Amino acid sequence: MPAREYIEAVLHEIQVHSPGQVEFYQAAEEVLHSLLPLLEEEPKYMDQNILRRIVVPERTIIFRVIWTDDAGKPRINLGYRVQFSSTLGPYKGGLRFHPSVNLGIIKFLGFEQIFKNALTGLSIGGAKGGSNFDPKGKSDNEVMRFCQAFMNELYRHIGQTHDVPAGDIGVGAREIGYLFGQYKKLTGRFEGILTGKNLRWGGSNTRREATGYGSVYFAENLLNAHGEEIKGKICTVSGAGNVAIYTIEKLRSMGAVPVSCSDSKGTVHHPGGINVETLKAIKEVNRGSLEEYARLHPDATYIPLHEYPEGGHAVWNIPCDVAFPSATQNELTLVDARHLVSNGCQLVNEGANMPTTPEAINYLQKHGVLFGPAKAANAGGVAVSQLEMAQNASMEHWSFAEVDTRLFAIMKNIFDTAHTTAEAYGSPGNLIVGANIAGFKKVADAMIDQGAV
Ligand code: NDP
Repeated sequence: MPAREYIEAVLHEIQVHSPGQVEFYQAAEEVLHSLLPLLEEEPKYMDQNILRRIVVPERTIIFRVIWTDDAGKPRINLGYRVQFSSTLGPYKGGLRFHPSVNLGIIKFLGFEQIFKNALTGLSIGGAKGGSNFDPKGKSDNEVMRFCQAFMNELYRHIGQTHDVPAGDIGVGAREIGYLFGQYKKLTGRFEGILTGKNLRWGGSNTRREATGYGSVYFAENLLNAHGEEIKGKICTVSGAGNVAIYTIEKLRSMGAVPVSCSDSKGTVHHPGGINVETLKAIKEVNRGSLEEYARLHPDATYIPLHEYPEGGHAVWNIPCDVAFPSATQNELTLVDARHLVSNGCQLVNEGANMPTTPEAINYLQKHGVLFGPAKAANAGGVAVSQLEMAQNASMEHWSFAEVDTRLFAIMKNIFDTAHTTAEAYGSPGNLIVGANIAGFKKVADAMIDQGAV
């Protein structure tokens, strides 16, 4: 069977066997289509039926989570852990707590995680998990009781050489602390079964900053390859969470001007540059809304989401040289891509997972906009998570500078790998193809080595 037909057949089977899992299908379609030149050159992947094997998780765990709210009423949520691939090492990937979470979202994130983790060059498999629980508007005690109830089931399925979850949307330092505490209570063991832990009890320096810093390091490498640098660039950033905050912080320290951030209610445009301390105070300390930012900085503008026309986002209509989508999936659409191109944007660098729709990617590439794909550009977080595991295993604690130096080297290596692989497979400059083929090859070759298991 020709490689093209094989790819379409596998995609068709996903639609039949995983109906309604649109985000998972979108992620699989992008990866599988970009593998065509590899499959045509190396038939062993088809002979070993690697595509059919890799699109099915090794294990999918779905469980009921019952917790009690402050009024004493029992509440019910769903919990998920999708252990996609353990070919390269223990399952690794974050937990997301957000009302939009469903099996399709967790599968898309877990599938992406396989190739992202492979690209880091470290020994980690791919997984993802989470719940449709919404931490917003809940008291600390409610969040704690939810995390404890979630861990009451999850603890059976994780372990420091088996599966090591981390944070993602809605799961930050507070949630990791409650989850870790409950694991310890249930098992009586103090083990590195989660990453993103507090520095005071087993966390790694630079883990909090890693995804945002790594995203900027990746953009710098990409720009350098085109004779440019991040210094002096006007940058738009979406999101106001972990990834966005530390993207903004690193951009400022490297001499760029990050002029925006956004949350689920609106966008801030601050032409003089976002004040990181204000942003951290609003989002990390007070868990507040960005509306507050414009009150504290009268030269900034706040654009509420409901005041922006449907089909686009205010943040992508702000003129910029580089755009860093760092909030959530499919947040940058074709309408937004048109705005970015007409405003002269040079590079879109994905901090979030799959933030750009396929139509928008197509449009950006057609118009010569450089593109840093998520599984390469945002891999810094999981890379430092693996460094946290290494420190836990050896009972060491490395300095901020040491971890940051390693992070920089890993991001450079990821860029070089994606760049040279894209060239080798006939798509110079197309880092989507480069990242997908390089990540896939590493996992697929190891799957063949390990036999049909
Ligand atoms: P956080 O929960 O810390 O922040 C998410 C931010 O995005 C918040 O500001 C939130 O707004 C905003 N947001 C979330 N959903 C929406 C939505 N539907 N519309 C508009 N805004 C939204 O998450 P992270 O920063 O950790 O994650 C952001 C992205 O980066 C995700 O795609 C995640 O998978 C990816 N990522 C994260 C890594 C990490 O290490 N944390 C590693 C690699 C990728 P509000 O404040 O109103 O909730």
